[in-house]
Amino acid sequence: MLTYTVSMPEPHTHLFHVEVAIDAVSSPHLDLHLPAWTPGSYMIREYARHVQQFSATDPDGQPLSWRKTAKALWQVDTEGVAEVRLRYKVYAFEQTVRTSYLDSSHGYFNPGNLCMYLPERSHEPLTLRVLPAEGWRVSTALEPDGSGPWCYRASDYDELVDSPFECGTQRVLTFSVDGIPHEIAIYGYGNEDEARLLRDTQRIVESQRDMFGSLPYPHYLFILHLTDGRGGGLEHRNSVTNMVDRWSFQPERSYERYLSLTSHELFHVWNVKRLRPAALGPFDYSQENYTRLIWFVEGVTSYYDELLLVRGGLMQPERFLERLADEILNLQSQPGRQLQTLEESSFDAWIKYYRPDENSANTSISYYLKGSLVSMLLDMQIRRVTEGTHCLEDVVRLLYQRYPISGPGIPEAGAVLAAVEEIAGEHAGLFRDFFAQMIAGTTELDYSSGLAVVGLELRWSYRAPRPDGSAPAWLGATFKRKGERTLVSSVRSDSPAYSAGVYADDELVALNGWRVDEEQLQARLAEYAPGSTVRLSLFRGDALIEVPVTLTAAPYDRLEVVAVSSPTEQQREQFQHWMGR
Ligand SMILES: [Zn+2]
Repeated sequence: MLTYTVSMPEPHTHLFHVEVAIDAVSSPHLDLHLPAWTPGSYMIREYARHVQQFSATDPDGQPLSWRKTAKALWQVDTEGVAEVRLRYKVYAFEQTVRTSYLDSSHGYFNPGNLCMYLPERSHEPLTLRVLPAEGWRVSTALEPDGSGPWCYRASDYDELVDSPFECGTQRVLTFSVDGIPHEIAIYGYGNEDEARLLRDTQRIVESQRDMFGSLPYPHYLFILHLTDGRGGGLEHRNSVTNMVDRWSFQPERSYERYLSLTSHELFHVWNVKRLRPAALGPFDYSQENYTRLIWFVEGVTSYYDELLLVRGGLMQPERFLERLADEILNLQSQPGRQLQTLEESSFDAWIKYYRPDENSANTSISYYLKGSLVSMLLDMQIRRVTEGTHCLEDVVRLLYQRYPISGPGIPEAGAVLAAVEEIAGEHAGLFRDFFAQMIAGTTELDYSSGLAVVGLELRWSYRAPRPDGSAPAWLGATFKRKGERTLVSSVRSDSPAYSAGVYADDELVALNGWRVDEEQLQARLAEYAPGSTVRLSLFRGDALIEVPVTLTAAPYDRLEVVAVSSPTEQQREQFQHWMGR
């Protein structure tokens, strides 16, 4: 067995001290690995760079020789001993849900950042003991092993990695659903209302339980970090770490962020932590784990996170439709939707989604955003062809039964389509094209015919139309402030600025010879009609240049999703069913 001890004797140094006792050693060498990434966050992060002061001994403390043979691989000569002890420290000062952090106020760690493993023994049960700083407690979803305070067991290395730890003076709120205990461990303070937080979190659990029929875990832990402007969430099998700005609990519009995030990450209890693509578990922690199905695990989850808030009474249907309109507008303003498919976006998550740059919107799409909208359209298509007797939930539940956590996971090709076809019955043929066009292709999404199923339509318009109501002139660049300067932050590839040769990082100086900042530029541009040519003065590096730009008619930049003027009875019923009313 591998026995880990994690201590934090000097929290202000940001160093976790790790000891690993390895028994039943029989080989001449041990190859100890440290993961390069955290499941759920698809990017190689090379946690080995934070390891220092590594040593290896026998149980009597006699040093064993060792060497690094790769950047995340330590090889120890066992010299015939049956038990090996490792000691090392890990620097932890990155405040995100997927990394580890230690200071004098608390310690948070993802075991994958701290715990080295032996690949050939990663299926074995193991134990982890935490020695928290004085006066601190420990919150984790792992089961206590009964051997002492803060001692835990995991059935294998995957379960260990899937169980983050919060150590400190966190507040712990509790509630239960169906007799299953839930804890909310809160680090930090802000404008939260504990009673409301508890009530609404419970409501989220209940509405997801209603969708799936039961809760699949013996207990559940929400680790909640209240931070200075940081955000994020990372799902785990029986727990989650959520990070929100400490002041985000008021007003209501802002509180949505907590509700949506919590709903999203809890949905992953089913979709990705249990029902999962075959490539996503058991994991290879040393390198990228490729799958074309991230759109399913993140897109379907993003679709239901707010829909289930509506069904749980935590979001008004009108607000849900506003959010839907924002998402459609957002995707339609990204030229990358015509270049990258959902499957490609999934596969390239490792080099694209987590590493955005000024060109990202021109060449790629988010599998969250497009995945959510495609899930909605798929839901509508199923509702249409089955006349409201079935919907996407039936597909998710079917897949959940068909690919249980104990099995190999969803095969890469064909399995999601097959489940949709099974639910859609005699209308199955329609969906082959849907998948080829919307998921494996870049066909424009047909929102209008999708939303017509529930009696809704799109109403496109301009935020600032010309006086006669027509399209204003459009440049197509966005800007950012840097000190006193206004720099181009990005240029849309379908815009006049792009055609004219405006670059990211150009400094905006003047329009037609007159000094402007961004606000003044927008005000001046509003005076021109589409087709006019203006002269932009820009600093490119230290060189002053002039770029003539012929403005075009702006694309729509405002969208509402509204009820059709006279919905049929069937549309009314479909809408009510969709909203869970
Ligand atoms: Zn997610």
